[in-house]
Amino acid sequence: CGIVAYIGRRPAVPLVVDGLRRLEYRGYDSAGLAIPDRGDRLAVHKAAGRVDDLAARLPKRLTATTAVGHTRWATHGVPSDANAHPHLDTAGRVAVVHNGIVENAVELRTRLTAEGVVFASDTDTEVLAHLIARELAAGERGLADAVRVTLGQIAGTYGIAVLDATRPDEIVVARNGSPLLLGVGDREVLAASDLSALVTHTRRVVHLQDGDLAVLRAGGYEVHRDGAPASRVPEVVDVEPM
Ligand code: GLU
Repeated sequence: CGIVAYIGRRPAVPLVVDGLRRLEYRGYDSAGLAIPDRGDRLAVHKAAGRVDDLAARLPKRLTATTAVGHTRWATHGVPSDANAHPHLDTAGRVAVVHNGIVENAVELRTRLTAEGVVFASDTDTEVLAHLIARELAAGERGLADAVRVTLGQIAGTYGIAVLDATRPDEIVVARNGSPLLLGVGDREVLAASDLSALVTHTRRVVHLQDGDLAVLRAGGYEVHRDGAPASRVPEVVDVEPM
């Protein structure tokens, strides 16, 4: 239902939790977030219920400066802790948050299961984490390429944000049929499914288009379409923070 991601210099967790609260009006049944942890690992915190329930579970003083967060409106799999996003691949290297529906999830899941993948949730989203991780493991591909190749196998709608434990200095986002905006600040970049989660931090906003994939770093962002660079200049939005 909603996505908030942050990469920059400030502690990312309070910022993403605040952003998720600003999306509450859209309705949701679960919330969660992923951050880089020590030793090339990710830490995931998620819970069915309110953003407050998630916040209550969070350890104090999380210092990560990168985070991807989500509020879920269940389409595939009941609202539960296990089905809340982010979803991870088996090794715990890749975390995915997703809005929308993977229409060919059953087929992809059957294929992955036959290859030995054990699923941790009933969601359509989890196939994305396993497929991206497989692309990363297969070769020299960076995260953006692994996401692009994976999305080429997906039918359906998505706004996604993806974190790779081995590259905590970048977040990859993409959209097709689900809203996704970037907020460009001073040595920080946010992504969100809704303007309300951005405008407390910056007025410089990029409206991603269907088919866009963007790599976010503290120092800026790059947008790609079909593997080629695309120019997306921020516009300055004139709205009061709520
Ligand atoms: N289809 C996904 C799920 O059920 C994402 C739903 C959403 O947009 O929140 O987990």
